[in-house]
Amino acid sequence: QDVVNKIAAGEIIVAPVHALKELIENAVDAGATVLDVLVREGGLKLLQISDNGHGIDKEDLPILCERFTTSKLKKFEDLGNIATYGFRGEALASISHIAHLTVTTRTKDTDVAYRALYNGGKISPAKPGQSAEPTRIAGRPGTQITVEDLFYNVPTRRRAFRSASDEFNKIIDMVGRYAIHCAGVAFSCKKFGDAGTTVSVQATNSTIERIRHIHGGAVAKELIEFAASDDRWGFKASGWATNANYHIKKTTLLLFINHRSVESSNIKKALEQTYSAFLPKNGHPFVYLSLEIDPQRVDVNVHPTKREVNFLNEDEIIQSICENIRDKLAAVDT
Ligand code: ADP
Ligand code: MG
Repeated sequence: QDVVNKIAAGEIIVAPVHALKELIENAVDAGATVLDVLVREGGLKLLQISDNGHGIDKEDLPILCERFTTSKLKKFEDLGNIATYGFRGEALASISHIAHLTVTTRTKDTDVAYRALYNGGKISPAKPGQSAEPTRIAGRPGTQITVEDLFYNVPTRRRAFRSASDEFNKIIDMVGRYAIHCAGVAFSCKKFGDAGTTVSVQATNSTIERIRHIHGGAVAKELIEFAASDDRWGFKASGWATNANYHIKKTTLLLFINHRSVESSNIKKALEQTYSAFLPKNGHPFVYLSLEIDPQRVDVNVHPTKREVNFLNEDEIIQSICENIRDKLAAVDT
């Protein structure tokens, strides 16, 4: 059973960035407005996310990392959430099977924080022989999730990582995506031991300011805002994209569907097609697109590591978005 859990977890979390993405989403779901990430050795040694969200009740800590059990279903299963994102309340459970997980959390109703350790889906004692109960410690409201020694018990997976800096770059990219998408939320990302931060946006920063901080002034200067919606197809889209005065070698698409960072090669292809009429032959755009779609129309059966998402009326929705971008591009003087 334990081996099965470990294998399943290793399929959901293939790289540190996959764990990080789930932890960011949890923090944002908890209403956090400040989110700090600390990374050591590309996230393989340490991945720590601290937030100021609503915290986790002490009573919920013992079952936090269980897979779908009746008790957990009652406690945590928000059917809407599952329908929306296709997630199955298994992120923390999965992580606990392939890493040492520590959760420190305080809700607004208490004046102390609680800390719990998890291994193999279960709350576990700090030292053998001690009780596995959450321990009281001083702490601010919010949650800190610490993931240590990811894949320590999956040596083949552990060995597959050539360079910590590649993994760190994927982490930076993911934090950057959420930092641009989550208006009103401050983000930081630091490498352990480094004085500077690699991502830093303030809660008050606008979307353009966020893009400038993360992708530079050259992109931020040439952005157009676009929007599209249609009740027939149950969607609402908005975003920022570069105009015809700017281009890059490869398309950068920051895509969010129902506030989750995902990939869609169909959307990417359509955008490239749209821009080909405006840009030089090898020129490509930067596009940040937030798409909200009636959850029932989104294919939630995608494998968690396969970020590719499909939805109903894809052609109509993509066409409508691209039409709006085309209009905006044509309206900008070059
Ligand atoms: P899911 O998010 O799909 O429910 P997870 O394993 O990611 O599954 O998280 C389990 C539960 O733990 C969440 O539903 C939430 O109630 C709680 N939780 C996790 N992270 C946080 C956090 N940072 N702040 C508050 N609650 C959290
Ligand atoms: Mg989650």
